[in-house]
Amino acid sequence: MYFKEEHHLFRQSLRAFLDKEVMPHIDQWEKQGYVDRSIWKKLGDMGFLGIDYAEEYGGSASDFMYTAILFEEVSRCNSGGFAGVVVSDVGLSMPYIRNFGNDELKKEYLTKSVAGDIYGCLAITEPNAGSNVAGIRTKAVRDGDHYIVNGSKTYITGGVHSDYIVAAVRTGDEGSSGISLLVIDRELEGVSAKTLDKMGFHASDTAEIFFDNVKVPASKLIGDENMGFYYIMQNFALERLAMALCWQASCEDAIAYTLQFMNDREAFGRPINKFQVLRHRIAQLASEVERIKIFNYNVARAYGDGEMVTKECAMAKLMATELGDRVMTECLQCFGGAGYMEEYKIARMFRDSRVGRIAGGSSEIMCELIAKMTVDAVGY
Ligand SMILES: Cc1cc2nc3c(=O)[nH]c(=O)nc-3n(C[C@H](O)[C@H](O)[C@H](O)COP(=O)(O)OP(=O)(O)OC[C@H]3O[C@@H](n4cnc5c(N)ncnc54)[C@H](O)[C@@H]3O)c2cc1C
Repeated sequence: MYFKEEHHLFRQSLRAFLDKEVMPHIDQWEKQGYVDRSIWKKLGDMGFLGIDYAEEYGGSASDFMYTAILFEEVSRCNSGGFAGVVVSDVGLSMPYIRNFGNDELKKEYLTKSVAGDIYGCLAITEPNAGSNVAGIRTKAVRDGDHYIVNGSKTYITGGVHSDYIVAAVRTGDEGSSGISLLVIDRELEGVSAKTLDKMGFHASDTAEIFFDNVKVPASKLIGDENMGFYYIMQNFALERLAMALCWQASCEDAIAYTLQFMNDREAFGRPINKFQVLRHRIAQLASEVERIKIFNYNVARAYGDGEMVTKECAMAKLMATELGDRVMTECLQCFGGAGYMEEYKIARMFRDSRVGRIAGGSSEIMCELIAKMTVDAVGY
């Protein structure tokens, strides 16, 4: 219903690539706290970073369902951190340049990003402004042909090793009407970053980023000055849809992995998959994952068709990440003590899933947004 033969073939080749080029390195990347730079070039060479980007930037201008497959498949590599940095590049940073940037910015950043020569991160959150995006304080003051940027960002996925930062900065008054987006090159003087120690997503270099009198050329402004909040709200739909697709795939992966374990593990003289209480638990979860998957695919298709699906993307993210938490908790329970051991990948899945209800807009913020568009019947 959602995928043609070509989509299936694409999924197969992507999965084979990930099996060969990513899976053997995942444990090392989790240990070192970042993914090796070499993977970007390999992803780029295979065309996986430019799926729905225009051919003039090296992309293949394919429909959005291919990108949906990318988000699903990178989430099956048992590393939320790896999936996180890929989504942060393809789904969070590059789209701002594509959708709102001028030709010069597109040529410079998209061409290299699609090729895997560089990759980006998105920096909105600040120590004092997370859910409340309109409250950001990082200041960009115009000085001739440049902006002088001062401030800091936090919890930024890919915040240490990415080559450029799509940063939300304050160029105008307080509130949502004074925010702009700048592309800030990592190499500029005054940019520094500190890796944050965190509970999961270990293969992602989540970081605090500092801007100390950074001189950013005015040509790096994305779109128009003081329109940043509007751009961010538009792109949040894609970020949330991407997360919904990632979590749905992780849920499927966790259930498949758990079923294998339940088949092999015996207790009281029989495989534990014969215990009705566990069978019913899995049956319930599998049904819920299936329902959310169909919803997500519907939203993905509508998004690809250019429909306004802000509310549906928030719903998809809310439901998939909340379900992710329950799936990981219940699957881990089926492993008994083994589930608590790092030897079994369910432990990492459990840890990585938890951030879904927080990052990209928390569950509470998703509910607020959905309530505005349903309870208040305010269209966005
Ligand atoms: C691993 C990880 C990766 C991340 N990656 C990025 C990234 O790449 N780029 C980026 O910009 N940010 C990133 N974030 C930041 C993330 O988007 C924020 O953490 C999130 O938006 C919540 O903001 P906060 O942490 O400041 O929490 P707060 O806004 O302080 O919220 C604290 C609690 O209060 C609740 N709350 C707040 N406001 C309301 C309200 N109006 N109604 C009801 N409840 C409310 C929240 O839901 C939450 O439970 C990442 C975070 C994590 C943990």
